[in-house]
Amino acid sequence: MIVVMSVGATDQQAESVRDQIRTHGLTPHDNVGAQRVVIAVLGDVAPVREHLMSKLSSMPGIESVTPISRPFKLASRESHPEDTVIELDGTRIGNGSLTIMAGPCSVENRDMLLQTADAVARAGATILRGGAFKPRTSPYSFQGLGVEGLEYLAEAGKATGLPIITEVMEPSQVDVVAEHADILQVGTRNMQNYSLLTAVGKANKPVMLKRGYGATIEEWLMAAEYIISSGQPNVVLCERGIRTFETYTRNTLDLTAVPLLHHLTHLPVVVDPSHATGRRWLVRPMALAAVAAGADGIMVEVHPSPDDAMSDGEQSLTFDQFASLAGAVRHIHEEVRTLIKDPFVTDGPVKVDGASKH
Ligand code: PEP
Ligand code: MN
Repeated sequence: MIVVMSVGATDQQAESVRDQIRTHGLTPHDNVGAQRVVIAVLGDVAPVREHLMSKLSSMPGIESVTPISRPFKLASRESHPEDTVIELDGTRIGNGSLTIMAGPCSVENRDMLLQTADAVARAGATILRGGAFKPRTSPYSFQGLGVEGLEYLAEAGKATGLPIITEVMEPSQVDVVAEHADILQVGTRNMQNYSLLTAVGKANKPVMLKRGYGATIEEWLMAAEYIISSGQPNVVLCERGIRTFETYTRNTLDLTAVPLLHHLTHLPVVVDPSHATGRRWLVRPMALAAVAAGADGIMVEVHPSPDDAMSDGEQSLTFDQFASLAGAVRHIHEEVRTLIKDPFVTDGPVKVDGASKH
């Protein structure tokens, strides 16, 4: 349920509404960034809906009370019709801008990171990526440089002026990662690690939530809900491919997720064609397709010498490949901006809830 206060409503009136919500055993949550005070009602609303609605209907200062049909409340577009725009030092995510996150899969050493950071910055990247804590399928593979890697990332960020994004794998790492990074990344394997989601939600840094490789869109949005309800409204969703029966590619890139998410949620959506495909030569066409589908950005892996990379070399781009790709995605983005809205759909995209599963 969403309570929209009138433009002239007083603080006292809004506080009475919050009290009324609490009296019903529910939690009021103010929507950040709204022009007027919008209070979302969190908790199990169903048993007390009628009673609460009738109490609210007689209270002053309320413009409207609307039930929310989705299980994800704060992440839903119903609760927050305007797009979330994330402002970072020097760049923004959302609001029609194209975000290009690039960098190595793993921070391998200081030199390679500084060299890669410089190359991607020159080529037009807007955010530098790099893994310091690496979730590896094998315990015998390179696990990342840890805090040393975070220090190199922070140094590279300063040298290039690019904000940093890096993965945090467990709650105990959140503080140290938040000290060095501008965006905290939650990886595919941790999308449903609820204690991690809660911890990153409290860290006061934007979070990028990658889609679990076996997660439905709804599960993904419920994971985002954990982060937002823990206190962090600035969440970016990253589609990075899901597991299907197909084996030619590392994962199957679900590009339908892009317009679908723009319909269901106000959160920005980026696409990672590197982990989605696992193959260098497939990264470019899928990055272009992602931007054509309306993604707010892409994340790609770049390495000074991909064939010698300590992780994910097969899907990493060379500096030249990245520079060419960055120019191409910008071109597509410019072209598609005005074309992406369907002129024949005035009431939002077609209803999705009843879509067939097969
Ligand atoms: C990554 O981006 O470094 C990564 C490990 O990706 P994912 O969690 O999507 O596999
Ligand atoms: Mn990788």
